[in-house]
Amino acid sequence: AKAAGKASWVLFEPRMRRELMDHARVGSELLLALEREELFLVYQPVRDLDTGRITGFESLVRWQHPERGLVPPPAFIPVAERNGLIVPLGRWVLREACAQFARWLAEPSGAGLTGIGVNVAVRQLRDPTFVADVTAALADTGLRPAHLILEVTESSVLDGPDVQATLRALHELGVQLALDDFGTGQSSLSLVRAFPMDILKLDKSFVDGIADGDDRGRLAVADAVAGLAATLGLQTVAEGIEDVEQLARLTELGYTSGQGYLLGRPAPAADTTALLAREAGE
Ligand code: C2E
Ligand code: CA
Ligand code: CA
Ligand code: CA
Repeated sequence: AKAAGKASWVLFEPRMRRELMDHARVGSELLLALEREELFLVYQPVRDLDTGRITGFESLVRWQHPERGLVPPPAFIPVAERNGLIVPLGRWVLREACAQFARWLAEPSGAGLTGIGVNVAVRQLRDPTFVADVTAALADTGLRPAHLILEVTESSVLDGPDVQATLRALHELGVQLALDDFGTGQSSLSLVRAFPMDILKLDKSFVDGIADGDDRGRLAVADAVAGLAATLGLQTVAEGIEDVEQLARLTELGYTSGQGYLLGRPAPAADTTALLAREAGE
């Protein structure tokens, strides 16, 4: 066992060193990317499940790297969280998303829109200027607080009293709070009772189970979450809807809204403007 352990370390080490170098490179390149404006946002429609109409979007960041092409968030968000760049990056995302949503709201085709989702990392929530950053982004873009949905995870909420105070301050500001990847954590239930949440986003893994048809467990979770939300007066968004079977079951279960490739892929602002116009029948 000892020999095997040593052998695997020998095999593992070059790969680990490569990964560490990669992270260092991604980190320094990310700082330049911010300055060179290589980052942009895509917007994924959120639809009312009863009417099928677009009520809002989730903003998702993309990195157009000059050599490596389009870099997906899992390849750089975790690095940015570790080296702290997520704070300026997230500040940029927030302003960009608020400004774009305010433009859509000002158009006739944006009349039915209710909110824009912005993902927020725990590192941002720990930043003492976060509430001031949000307030300034809203003031500068003219977006009303109720139109902004900050998506946070369970581990963020459980981070500690500072983050919890920040979440309460944001809620008092009138911003909506969504609990992302809901159902995957340990203490989901007690969490929504103890914190001022407005929206529960059912994690894609539970929606995936519905397609299999035979997974009673995951369908039961989807059902329980819908029931819990109804009892507490919370909105629900089912994430990662890819087929009509999932759409039908989640609508039956009473989910307020849905998101997923079936209902719309994430797309850049210009395409999204065109989509809104098309759906408004312009
Ligand atoms: P998330 O917040 O759970 O976002 C949903 C992810 O699921 C997105 O991946 C979206 O493109 C993908 N998705 C949506 N519908 C479907 C579907 O029907 N099928 C499948 N297979 N996937 C679907 P994306 O854009 O790669 O983002 C991954 C994660 O990166 C996000 O997960 C979020 O945690 C993080 N992220 C993205 N943008 C930001 C950002 O601006 N700030 C922060 N802090 N994190 C971000
Ligand atoms: Ca999210
Ligand atoms: Ca999610
Ligand atoms: Ca409904």
